[in-house]
Amino acid sequence: MSATEVVVVGGGIIGLSIAWRCRQRGLAVTVHDGGGDDGAWYAAAGMLAPAGEAGFGQEALTGLLVDSAARWPEFAAELERETGIGVGYDSVGTLSVALTGDDLAEARRLWAYRRELGLGVDPLLPSALREREPGLSPRVRGGAHAPDDCQVDPRRVVAALRAALGPAVLRGRIEADSAGSDPSAGGGTRLAELVAARPGRAVVIAAGAGTAALTGLPVRPVKGLVLRLRGAPGLLRHVVNGWADGRHVYLVPRADGEVVVGATQEERADSTVSAGQVLELLRAATDLVPELGECELVETVVRHRPATPDNAPVLGAVGGGVLVAAGHHRNGVLLAPVTADLIAELVATGKSAPLLEAFAPGRFG
Ligand SMILES: Cc1cc2nc3c(=O)[nH]c(=O)nc-3n(C[C@H](O)[C@H](O)[C@H](O)COP(=O)(O)OP(=O)(O)OC[C@H]3O[C@@H](n4cnc5c(N)ncnc54)[C@H](O)[C@@H]3O)c2cc1C
Repeated sequence: MSATEVVVVGGGIIGLSIAWRCRQRGLAVTVHDGGGDDGAWYAAAGMLAPAGEAGFGQEALTGLLVDSAARWPEFAAELERETGIGVGYDSVGTLSVALTGDDLAEARRLWAYRRELGLGVDPLLPSALREREPGLSPRVRGGAHAPDDCQVDPRRVVAALRAALGPAVLRGRIEADSAGSDPSAGGGTRLAELVAARPGRAVVIAAGAGTAALTGLPVRPVKGLVLRLRGAPGLLRHVVNGWADGRHVYLVPRADGEVVVGATQEERADSTVSAGQVLELLRAATDLVPELGECELVETVVRHRPATPDNAPVLGAVGGGVLVAAGHHRNGVLLAPVTADLIAELVATGKSAPLLEAFAPGRFG
């Protein structure tokens, strides 16, 4: 494909990153976004965790996570240089911790697998854990340091990308071609009109959980709730990713004293926040770091991760000048740099990087 003009549908972290990289290659770019903060990025904790997210049997995805993590320092530095907006990239690493003996046994199984893959996971005794993070409960039985698992603030990243792209980001949903029968359709531009308007230009669908309606690809919403607490800056230094009596929880501290506590994961599309789920997250969080109970609860937020049947993204051309970059599920923030680089390369040169092969949209038939 040779394209001199690119239209991106979806202005979440993936669509904006692609648009930014395309523009840096000299392409004329427009982004159409539903607008506001309805994307998953608004809830995302911002963990960049290639080791913490390496699941059994997901070697291709793990390779992509590792590749993208290596691109983050330059991606963040370039974005900060261009916009003057700090994105909160922090490379102090993650502490993976286990509260009980059973939690520790489960954690050790995962750490062993991740070390086999060559990922950085360094086991620590409880005393060494508390030296690094004095706020951890004395009940914590063990843990490990993942030096390559970093963090960034996704809201700041999106603010910086929006600033970098300026008026190229337009408000307004693009409707599916079948939207005529859908009473909720807003009468906006149809995808087919967008594609037909100027032959030769590339249309990249990066609409998160909205991608299924536009493309028919199996991208489903997976509901996630996170809490934001506010306490004294310095209460935590590392991201803490832990198990507390079989409950998984992560704590992501920001420099200003905010701590993101996450996250639930449910196969649902509603946005209800239940008291029970808030309680469960806070119970697990305070079991690991008791002092979090003193913080102010400033926000509960639900958004929907865009997930595919194999939980890996769909990246590549679907024909007729249309490309897709969606389905990043739990790792869209981490995967933004590699997705943006490779999709921009595909748009600009027509060359599909070998790394994209395992994530081709065609794998779903
Ligand atoms: C609770 C939670 C915690 C998370 N934590 C992390 C984390 O720590 N690390 C990590 O890497 N990832 C995390 N994620 C996952 C990450 O947020 C997503 O993978 C990522 O946001 C996907 O990016 P996206 O741009 O594809 O979709 P989104 O961020 O959902 O953005 C999609 C955009 O497309 C727009 N859109 C949709 N339909 C249309 C349409 N028809 N026309 C125009 N625009 C449209 C929407 O308005 C939205 O702006 C988390 C997600 C959740 C929910």
